[in-house]
Amino acid sequence: MTYSRSITLVLTHDCPWHCRYCGFRSDGEGLLSDGEMERIIREAQQGGAREALLISGERPGGMPHIQEELARRGYGDFWEFANRVGERCAEAGLFPHGNFGRMTEEELVRLRPNFVSMGMMLESVRDHSECAPEKKVAGRIAGMEAAGRAKVPFTSGILVGWGESQASRLQSLEVLAEIHSKHGHLQEILIQRYVPNAGSRWSAGVAPTLSEYAEMMQAWRDWAPGVAIQIPPNLEPRWVDLLHELDDLGGISWARDEVNPSRPWEQVGLYEKRCEAKGRKLVERLPVYQSHSTREWLDVRWQERVSRFWEEKVL
Ligand code: SF4
Repeated sequence: MTYSRSITLVLTHDCPWHCRYCGFRSDGEGLLSDGEMERIIREAQQGGAREALLISGERPGGMPHIQEELARRGYGDFWEFANRVGERCAEAGLFPHGNFGRMTEEELVRLRPNFVSMGMMLESVRDHSECAPEKKVAGRIAGMEAAGRAKVPFTSGILVGWGESQASRLQSLEVLAEIHSKHGHLQEILIQRYVPNAGSRWSAGVAPTLSEYAEMMQAWRDWAPGVAIQIPPNLEPRWVDLLHELDDLGGISWARDEVNPSRPWEQVGLYEKRCEAKGRKLVERLPVYQSHSTREWLDVRWQERVSRFWEEKVL
């Protein structure tokens, strides 16, 4: 059973869209300042984080006030800014994982050297009119295919408990497995329980029953053997009952969950004890899995640092 000790840097909450379930977005916040970036990096170092999770609204680089700030701060576009923050995290000894929504292959290739992995949720195979055009299923699938071609170790997953049926959950997982069968880039998938946050205008639906969870996990094992299943324990209180099929608890931080601030994590020690009580040992991993730490998937600059992490773990 694995987890990643992480801290989140929000490059901006600003987003051009207004998805009904979103409790993340803002309009005029602007970009993460250099001072705040350095403060979070210091906090990460002091708290022993390995993963720096860098996130933003969906393609904020198209918003006029963001374009203006990028130009004022000397960046050609948003990806150059994201690359700089990733590079600075890497210099500080952290392992950056990026989640900036849908990106093109060219954009992914640009960011790849400074990020050990990236991610984007599929969420569902159904389009919702209350969600951003950028969230349309065809675009998400195209973004994931682009990540596969760009050889980016990738995380995706589905959102559950927001009004979907079990049939649509299984269909969504099947689509993810199909994409993975073409590229091999998925290292894990999340089955992420929807939690409304302040600002969300979408009520929680019925969460999957334990047997529905078991059915999804069994199906995933059959369709994509070896690709880890993650359930964030701060979002699904019944995670312990699913431990027999679960591989990973995802990023855990002493700091705020920036996407679900209403659901802070417990101390890692508590998760360790609850896993141990079920005969599972909780161990730390990096945002890039061992399965994707090869030259094929990981830029050469990361090879030594990633190997050192695993050698220390084994010792
Ligand atoms: S869910 Fe993503 S795309 Fe939709 S409003 Fe929130 S940040 Fe923007």
